[in-house]
Amino acid sequence: MAMADVQMGEVETFAFQAEINQLLSLIINTFYSNKEIFLRELISNASDALDKIRFESLTDKTKLDAKPELFIRLVPDKTNKTLSIIDSGIGMTKADLVNNLGTIARSGTKEFMEALQAGADVSMIGQFGVGFYSAYLVAEKVIVTTKHNDDEQYIWESQAGGSFTVTRDVNGEPLGRGTKITLFLKEDQLEYLEERRIKDLVRKHSEFISYPIYLWTEKTTEKEISDDEDDEPKKVEEGDVEEVDEEKEKDSKKKKKIKEVSHEWQLINKQKPIWLRKPEEITKEEYASFYKSLTNDWEDHLAVKHFSVEGQLEFKAILFVPRRAPFDLFDTRKKMNNMKLYVRRVFITDNCEELIPEYLGFVKGVVDSDDLPLNISREMLQQNKILKVIRKNLVKKCIEMFNEIAENKEDYNRFYDAFSKNLKLGIHEDSQNRAKLADLLRYHSTKSGDEMTSLKDYVTRMKEGQKEIYYITGESKKAVENSPFLERLKKKGYEVLFMVDAIDEYAVGQLKEYDGKKMVSATKEGLKLDDDSEEEKKKKEEKKKSFEELCKVMKEMLGDKVEKVVVSDRIVESPCCVVTGEYGWSANMERIMKAQALRDNNMSGYMSSKKTMEINPDNGIMEELRKRAEADKNDKSVKDLVLLLFETALLTSGFSLDDPNIFAARIHRMLKLGLSIDEDTGVDEEMPALDDEDAEESKMEEVD
Ligand code: ADP
Ligand code: MG
Repeated sequence: MAMADVQMGEVETFAFQAEINQLLSLIINTFYSNKEIFLRELISNASDALDKIRFESLTDKTKLDAKPELFIRLVPDKTNKTLSIIDSGIGMTKADLVNNLGTIARSGTKEFMEALQAGADVSMIGQFGVGFYSAYLVAEKVIVTTKHNDDEQYIWESQAGGSFTVTRDVNGEPLGRGTKITLFLKEDQLEYLEERRIKDLVRKHSEFISYPIYLWTEKTTEKEISDDEDDEPKKVEEGDVEEVDEEKEKDSKKKKKIKEVSHEWQLINKQKPIWLRKPEEITKEEYASFYKSLTNDWEDHLAVKHFSVEGQLEFKAILFVPRRAPFDLFDTRKKMNNMKLYVRRVFITDNCEELIPEYLGFVKGVVDSDDLPLNISREMLQQNKILKVIRKNLVKKCIEMFNEIAENKEDYNRFYDAFSKNLKLGIHEDSQNRAKLADLLRYHSTKSGDEMTSLKDYVTRMKEGQKEIYYITGESKKAVENSPFLERLKKKGYEVLFMVDAIDEYAVGQLKEYDGKKMVSATKEGLKLDDDSEEEKKKKEEKKKSFEELCKVMKEMLGDKVEKVVVSDRIVESPCCVVTGEYGWSANMERIMKAQALRDNNMSGYMSSKKTMEINPDNGIMEELRKRAEADKNDKSVKDLVLLLFETALLTSGFSLDDPNIFAARIHRMLKLGLSIDEDTGVDEEMPALDDEDAEESKMEEVD
């Protein structure tokens, strides 16, 4: 490389990625009163950067060599109207600078803009992973100087406006390692140069940063000194001395007064971790402010659990439940970094999958272990026995915390709204805690009205003789509450739970029973309501017999469409319904699987095929059909009716039709019959073929 290149530091210009650019304009051009949060964001980034280098240094001490002390420093400069935030964190390589600060959009960029436009507060910015740009709330220009162990020192600079530059820092003061962010404050934002203001802000928003935050403070002292003393070098810690000439002139004898302006680094945060303190000594406000600093949330937490485990294994933890689900709760591309793991006060990682199961990924908090080794590697974390015990305890405490939330109805509704899917996922995945999690479920039911009911309450309402818990799955409450499947159950006064969340299918499939009572689907085979009197039973048996022939005829007509046709025990009003096998997919599950782009086709063939048509012997239509079929098995109207009944039953049972046109054509034919329009008016040709069998049959009829 030529000397000249090294010396000059070539200026490279980059365009901001389009969404980031939009975000910047929004930040700059929209009025937000809550600008002060910029400092919290930049300090939080500094703290993250320090965490990273400290973690690296656990396995390689030399990583700290370039700058051994870990700190955050704030330097207000009234002369130049700049505020600098300096950290001795991991720093950024040139590539990091280009990628992280401008060219690669985070998934949250767009979401954040949408949130802002929907009236959200700008202080939410940290949650969306774009906190850095909040610098432009108060600055017209930002310069980032940074040094990573693996690269030279670089300068990033931008006044927004579409682009930024990156230059090698040849002549600047070497940082050793870390990042210095200099904000050139807008004229109306000079309040952020005031010591008081900065101190208050740090106390308010960054109290729980576990690295020392120093403020470069200015102190003016008046001092009387004699003339000869004057020449001696002054002892001031660090900083400049300013002589005031006025004083000199006034009193130019032996003694004179001078004003000394000295600067010093003042530590402005306490760093004792809150989790080491006793829970009874911590106020609600302190928890809230710790929660906010931990999570970037702008709202208080919904619940907190602070505890320590002692004995063979010792650790302390604080767990929080947020008030809302994050915008990307089930985004599988994103790792949940909600649980911070410390070992004896030292931050280790916030990305340890073994610490808490996925379904509890929404719980935020810190865990500080006394037993794990400090220099633990990621691989070791994966198999660590101590970690397994910690995890078990965390799950237990989470469930305890959820039960505490449940003591307040309003809070629990909020919680359930946001995180019921997680609980259900837990039921699906966590066999050990399944029963406990089931206590937390809430459902609307045929008897719950506007409220939701727990399974526990359901059980207390069970009718005498009722041995099972009934539920129906479907797309929405509306779609299931009038389902034909509920007719008989309702008539008997049995309560039925409405499970209308897609994930309910999975959860209930694993749950199988609650409190020793089997969970029974109203839409599947295996629903037996056999508590009739002997007399009634006998009557039913007879009726069943009389319909056996019709069932056979219908099965022949429906062919492969159904597994079998039987007399139903569950419908009272409707003529018929279609149920699925006890262990196969329900209609609702079939709908869900069809909606999944990447479903396994083999699986669906296997799981969805078993349909049973159930007919209601007490229904007039069925009775009429029975008579006609008895008179002439091959009666064409019977076949049309059977197919029509089947297709209608599919719909009312929650299935979708493979070919709605055939169904429509059948209905039209019926309409014509009803309106006494002649079949041979030529309209026929326009009608789509009903299905292969039908088409063939009608051809044969024509030949006849
Ligand atoms: P987030 O902190 O959620 O990742 P930000 O917009 O606040 O989002 O920061 C973007 C990225 O810029 C960070 O992830 C980090 O890689 C980098 N960065 C920002 N500030 C610093 C810093 N002080 N030291 C090192 N890297 C930083
Ligand atoms: Mg950040």
